[in-house]
Amino acid sequence: MTKSSLRPRLLNGQTGDPALLVTLRWQGRAVLIDLGRIDRTPGGVLLPIEAVFVSHAHMDHFMGFDQLLRLFLAREGTLRLFGPAGIADCVQGKLAGYTWNLTDEYPFTLDVTEIDATEMRTSRFAASRRFARETLATEPFAGVCYQDPVLTVEAAPLDHRIVSMGYAVTERTHLNVRPEALASAGLRPGPWLNVLKNAVRAGAPADSPIEIAPGDRRPLGALRDELLIVTPGQKIAYVVDVLFSPANAVRIVRLAQGADVFFCESPFLDGDLDQASKRYHLTARQAGALARAARVGRLQVFHFSPRYEGRYGEIVAEAQAEFAGHEVRYGELDARDPSFS
Ligand SMILES: [Zn+2]
Ligand SMILES: [Zn+2]
Repeated sequence: MTKSSLRPRLLNGQTGDPALLVTLRWQGRAVLIDLGRIDRTPGGVLLPIEAVFVSHAHMDHFMGFDQLLRLFLAREGTLRLFGPAGIADCVQGKLAGYTWNLTDEYPFTLDVTEIDATEMRTSRFAASRRFARETLATEPFAGVCYQDPVLTVEAAPLDHRIVSMGYAVTERTHLNVRPEALASAGLRPGPWLNVLKNAVRAGAPADSPIEIAPGDRRPLGALRDELLIVTPGQKIAYVVDVLFSPANAVRIVRLAQGADVFFCESPFLDGDLDQASKRYHLTARQAGALARAARVGRLQVFHFSPRYEGRYGEIVAEAQAEFAGHEVRYGELDARDPSFS
């Protein structure tokens, strides 16, 4: 079995500012979801970041921007940043807070993409132009905000009294040809292999004919089983700062569907449901219910309210119990796990 190549890590743990680094093992690349403070993370860990996906611009999710900018400023290349509508104004406002008279030679560029209901608008801020804002392309948006040969990132606008964007990073299916199988079947490599791979990726039926040489057509299923190693891509979903409303729940379950790991905020215990709803946040129990409905492999709760300091174990237990489908009463939690303080 081939191991998955996505490795997620909360840079500030479960209790600090949200910042989820997703490293692509063996590729020296990374993406960052949310941009809370990152000053305790060594620069070398952050430098592989190619794209940043911001949920919303509340301080605890965006104050790491300056630190990241400083780290990348003298570098060549383009950093991409995605977020809800208005994020380009927030970036522009931050950039306007500094003086840029000595950066004319710097090749660094920041491309900021605002994700709206149906379109994505990109603005460019180049160090060589003193970060003056330029308008780039507008593209249609239908769920996927970023795609490259290895990754697909989906975005879902969620209600936090403002938009808080949820994200899901999916590694695209790996299709590797087994050269020894090709040789022993007496087949020559050629463009037909890409036709085969594309048909498999597109989910074409097993009896679809693939032409491997003029006049020689064979069924896709047999070729796939004999020649290809198919490794399903890993999926990581991320949701923070959202109200537990029917509309949000539908969108979150769709976004996180089948994720290997679901990072979900759990600032409140369900006993403080009123507080959670008033502040447009989830409770641990609601996070567990969403994870269960989305049939995720593992639920990782985080973004705990400091009011529960010393009781964080209760949050985790409540979320996991609901995720597992157990009926739990809060008073029973202590008895269940002796590690609670
Ligand atoms: Zn927050
Ligand atoms: Zn917030």
